[in-house]
Amino acid sequence: MKQDQPRPTPRAGIMDIEAYVPGKSTAPAGVTKVYKLSSNENPLGPSPKAIEAAREVAGKLDVYPDGTARRLREAIAEVHGLNPANIICSNGSDEILGLLAQTYLAPGDEAVFTEHAFMVYKIYVQAAGAKPVAVKETDERADVDAMLAAVTPATRIVFLANPNNPTGTYLPFSEVRRLHAGLPKNVLLVLDAAYAEYVRRNDYEAGIELAGSAENVVMTRTFSKLGLGGARVGWMYGPAHIVDAINRVRGPFNVNATAIEAGIASIRDRAHVERSVQHNEKWLGWLSEQMIGLGLRVTPSVGNFLLIHFPDDKKHSAAAADDFLSQRGYILRRVTGYGFPNALRMSIGTEEANRGVVDALKTFLKS
Ligand SMILES: *Cc1c(COP(=O)(O)O)cnc(C)c1O
Repeated sequence: MKQDQPRPTPRAGIMDIEAYVPGKSTAPAGVTKVYKLSSNENPLGPSPKAIEAAREVAGKLDVYPDGTARRLREAIAEVHGLNPANIICSNGSDEILGLLAQTYLAPGDEAVFTEHAFMVYKIYVQAAGAKPVAVKETDERADVDAMLAAVTPATRIVFLANPNNPTGTYLPFSEVRRLHAGLPKNVLLVLDAAYAEYVRRNDYEAGIELAGSAENVVMTRTFSKLGLGGARVGWMYGPAHIVDAINRVRGPFNVNATAIEAGIASIRDRAHVERSVQHNEKWLGWLSEQMIGLGLRVTPSVGNFLLIHFPDDKKHSAAAADDFLSQRGYILRRVTGYGFPNALRMSIGTEEANRGVVDALKTFLKS
């Protein structure tokens, strides 16, 4: 084919997007046992009840799902004490973040988030033709004053991951309220509470009350970090006028039948959630102490992962550690794209995986 032939071209800005790179899931050739600690999945796996529900639906895969995911919304509403009419379910919470950008941003608009924020915000803002505005953090944590200072008349959305990935840091809810209070009423505040279940802090709130009372706040949640990453189930809670707008834009059957049934069984299995959170609390604390004991700095995390910073000498850099660990089957997450060229993010794993990483790092740092 001739090179100069006309061909379809993406909208302005699309080719400037750097595609999302998911956590690695494979180890170098020859490594037999692989511990995937790169995607913040649940080391306890899915709820056994979700597995059962997914098996059951397999025989009915010819039938379209309920396009409003009513029973899933009702199950979520029951567990969290919400009105199901104010919930939208989605193909992972990524989808809902994209729909919010697509619905509320136009070319020329701006969207604000923080410098080490979850990467998909930038992608969806650019995909909507709008301008991403990344704001400096303080001590690897969102800085409300800096965020408010970045708001201009062109700002339409402020994204806040609370807690944030990959840092694991969080804002106490008094700070979130202060952020909201400082925003113009026409700016949408998106509270991404993907790790809410894991946070055990008295001053933390996911945002249910604020999203239930303000006209410009939504809260997004996911099932992915509690054992259903592969099923793709997320949801949003917010005011009726936003739910109405998103329902016009989303795909008519955006949540598939397996996701709906696995999601219902999963959220009703509170014992599995509790086990997962307890496992996390124990090993997050243990791993943080061990890393500090090895002389490594960690960012204080309330999520199901830990950001580990490596020394400046090249022999013991994050890249070298990543190679060393991968050879032994421990797959962590490089976070250069998040502005941390010399850190690795480690998901809290099984006891075996956690102890294995610490032992391997001991050897690595002595080498
Ligand atoms: C994992 C994650 C999500 C979304 O995950 P889904 O699998 O799409 O539900 C959203 N926000 C943050 C901060 C995350 O870490």
